[in-house]
Amino acid sequence: MHCPFCQHEDTRVIDSRLTEDGSSVRRRRECEQCGERFNTFETAELKLPTIVKSGERREVFDERKLRVSFERALQKRPVASENVDASVRAIINDLRRSGEREVPSRQLGELVMRELKNLDQVAYVRFASVYRKFEDVQAFREEIEKLERDLPGLESLQLSLLGEGDARRGKKN
Ligand SMILES: [Zn+2]
Repeated sequence: MHCPFCQHEDTRVIDSRLTEDGSSVRRRRECEQCGERFNTFETAELKLPTIVKSGERREVFDERKLRVSFERALQKRPVASENVDASVRAIINDLRRSGEREVPSRQLGELVMRELKNLDQVAYVRFASVYRKFEDVQAFREEIEKLERDLPGLESLQLSLLGEGDARRGKKN
């Protein structure tokens, strides 16, 4: 890299070592022209992207908010909190891996749906119905039908979506 003192184009690494916690590499460099020495640090760029909401509004990624979305969709559903933790971690890792500085909130929503689909079908449809703001009953019905094709053995999804009490009453024993 260029020398920050004289802007000479070449500097030499004279020492290189790992920082104490192992998260970065510190290099001691020397300018070939002016002889000044300086340090550089190399760390993994793991900053999470900014979330771009509708109307171009930007928001710092908030893990707590993401968790609340899961909890809301999974209310009264039999899903262990460690599975929710794993889903939240998976999404955070996806965002980090993408290296994007900005991500549309819609993309984040799709990631939540992907995780919910594996965690709990009822929660998935709950979230999808709010998130995708189904325009009419027909669109909602189509989504349920698609889900039933994707996930065979899903018999009482529509009933359970009415709420636990209604679902129980609606089921034949
Ligand atoms: Zn220099």
